[in-house]
Amino acid sequence: MAEKVIRACHLYGNLLNTYGDNGNMLMMAHVAKQQGVAFESKIVSIYEEFNPDEFDFIFFGGGQDYEQTIVSKDLQTKKEALTQYIEDEGVILAICGGYQMLGHYYIGANGDKIPGISALDHYTESQEDNRFIGDVEIHNEAFNETYVGFENHNGVTYLGEGEKPLGTVTTGYGNNGKDNGEGAIYKNTFCSYLHGPILARNPHLAKRLVDIILDKKYAK
Ligand code: GLN
Repeated sequence: MAEKVIRACHLYGNLLNTYGDNGNMLMMAHVAKQQGVAFESKIVSIYEEFNPDEFDFIFFGGGQDYEQTIVSKDLQTKKEALTQYIEDEGVILAICGGYQMLGHYYIGANGDKIPGISALDHYTESQEDNRFIGDVEIHNEAFNETYVGFENHNGVTYLGEGEKPLGTVTTGYGNNGKDNGEGAIYKNTFCSYLHGPILARNPHLAKRLVDIILDKKYAK
């Protein structure tokens, strides 16, 4: 039997890669390898074509407002393909800036509105002269799993239709510091503000993503 393989896309990996988010790709490769599955990854960045059929997993990392503004423009050219991938239950991990841009918009710290692609129904406002910075712990009731990480964001995100938080905040601020939610899950798209990187600090979440990918691709 041919070797199983996970084909991963690191979306804008050369522009959005704050706080060691790259480590999420290393962790996915590690967990795949432990299960005898090969892991291939490719950066798809600005001016490059994104073909959803080429990938079993997308990682969309965090960034500063400046990089997000550049990515936002290009992202509109990939909007249709990405939305289709998400609706078809393709697996995505989106962190911080990437999370914000899958929603309707993000208001940057200087007040500029940075358009997202509205693939998910959340939106992100800006806080005046404040950032949410520090350690976070969240609990996902449905999975009965706890995740830890580090947050550093100005944006405050409010979830919309069809989205559930990735977890309930037990330490830290989370999406907006008000409703106790952190991150978002929509179909097989997982979003979070947690850096660290989240998968290296939470191997059980990496395992969950790998399992979903393999089930979707090979369990017929
Ligand atoms: N620039 C965004 C914010 O401050 C995202 C930051 C990040 O990706 N860490 O909210």
